[in-house]
Amino acid sequence: MAEAIDVVVIGAGPAGYPAAIRAAQNGLKVICVDAWLDRDGGSALGGTCLNAGCIPSKALLESSELFYRAQTEFAAHGIAATGVALDLAVMQRRRAGIVRNMTGGIASLFKAAGVTAIFGRGRLLPGHRVEVTGHDGSRSEIEARHVVLASGSVPTELKCAPFDHERIVDSWDALEFTTVPNKLCVVGAGVIGLELGSVWRRLGAEVVVLEALENFLAIADQQLAAEAARHFRKQRLDIRLGAKVTGAVVADGGVTVSYGDKGGAHTLSVDKVIVAVGRHPYTANLLAPGSGVELDERGFIQVDEQCRSGAKGVWAVGDCVRGPMLAHKGKEEGIAVADLIAGRYAHVNYEVIPSVIYTAPEIAWVGRTEQQLSSAGIGFKSGVFPFAASGRARAMEAGVGFVKILAARDTDTILGVHIVGPMAGELIAEATLAMEFQASAEDLQRTIHAHPTLAEALHEAALAVDKRAIDTINR
Ligand code: FAD
Ligand code: NAD
Repeated sequence: MAEAIDVVVIGAGPAGYPAAIRAAQNGLKVICVDAWLDRDGGSALGGTCLNAGCIPSKALLESSELFYRAQTEFAAHGIAATGVALDLAVMQRRRAGIVRNMTGGIASLFKAAGVTAIFGRGRLLPGHRVEVTGHDGSRSEIEARHVVLASGSVPTELKCAPFDHERIVDSWDALEFTTVPNKLCVVGAGVIGLELGSVWRRLGAEVVVLEALENFLAIADQQLAAEAARHFRKQRLDIRLGAKVTGAVVADGGVTVSYGDKGGAHTLSVDKVIVAVGRHPYTANLLAPGSGVELDERGFIQVDEQCRSGAKGVWAVGDCVRGPMLAHKGKEEGIAVADLIAGRYAHVNYEVIPSVIYTAPEIAWVGRTEQQLSSAGIGFKSGVFPFAASGRARAMEAGVGFVKILAARDTDTILGVHIVGPMAGELIAEATLAMEFQASAEDLQRTIHAHPTLAEALHEAALAVDKRAIDTINR
């Protein structure tokens, strides 16, 4: 006899687990089914983000940046740090410990909220029923009023360079290297390529990044991208644009990568290759025939603006639906769906989703780029403030990059904020809040910012929009 409950969430990543917790907060009876298995074969909540994405990558970015700065920056502070040495085993244990702690935290949150976690693979059957196959092969069925699909995404494989997970690896493998490769090739200069390329470069690998597009960071404001590229080159991250990989052959303990660019065909001999050419929705065995849920041509679950699928009472959120593949986007969708199910108001503002790349310098933006505004024929004013003119950034030995604010020429409404520089990922929160409240550049100009802070750069960039910056020359 199937047990009737209110909501079954399939997937406990950053889209699914907040949906489950909010649904429980709304007084609903909730089960969350998750299939994640860690390297030791144990179950873990948190999905890609906590187990193999956001959190472990940020742990290694932090550690590797400290290692790099100890060697390159401490001397400028008058600190003689000789004999700085890497203990990768300790660094990796720290990363694994953080992951364990955070995923265990979700189990505690579920317990406190009254969400029941079931470990196994969920499959949507017709009529709001979910079949669960446990990791031991056992089967059960749950009937629910609502089902939320939050099955996430998986790395995209290149046919010409298939993963062997030893020499040709995905991003999860690349977070768990036990030795620093001497020579590393990263395919794709996207977010993962830049973050993981930076980690292993800072730890001593020679890193070549092959990017198929001619434009670096085509999704970002191109002024921002150019500034970031300059710093990456200084760090000797060898980024080759317009480079299309044609093959990768594993032999003699290494990999030979072939690629073509404007200059012809080339080969590269490396120890390992990280393929980071994007991710695709994970919907394998998720939908039984007759479930009523449709996939689009790229495999994403089709949903409307409010994440409703074509089947009544079935919703989908996070990486398995359209929109940017970001943890915070999935979280907002999960929460919104749980509120809609409970009959409450909910809305996700897709126009104001911040993006952050956690390199050094950090890169962050929200809203539209100069190129997008120009091609849409929208009149705008631009204000730029360099961190070189920020007292706090100089004191931090981090006076690189800038804040750029784009505001509507006619209404002064902020349309986009683009930051490359220290703590850009933290600074973007103020810009996001300003845009969520439809603030004007003048609103930021009239907001007092503490001195000396990095956030003053936002204040000054807002002033620069009207050529009224104080701490830099207005251009
Ligand atoms: P996922 O996190 O993929 O979770 C889906 C869960 O569902 C998984 O546990 C999966 O096992 C489970 N599942 C799938 N199918 C079934 C099934 N049939 N039955 C039961 N369970 C199932 N985003 C950011 O915003 N910031 C970052 O800094 C960031 N860094 C990243 C770094 C890396 C290396 C990677 C790979 C990604 C990063 N991302 C980052 C992206 C982020 O991880 C994803 O956008 C986010 O995890 C998507 O959340 P989700 O809940 O939709 O899916
Ligand atoms: P991505 O889409 O960011 O970048 C992939 C890059 O690979 C693109 O620049 C693309 O042009 C290039 N590419 C595609 N095919 C190629 C080929 N054959 N040869 C060479 N280059 C090729 O994807 P990603 O870096 O794999 O990341 C996947 C997702 O994870 C992204 O959507 C991202 O939002 C998310 N993520 C976010 C963060 C963050 O928020 N800090 C960090 C990591 C990942």
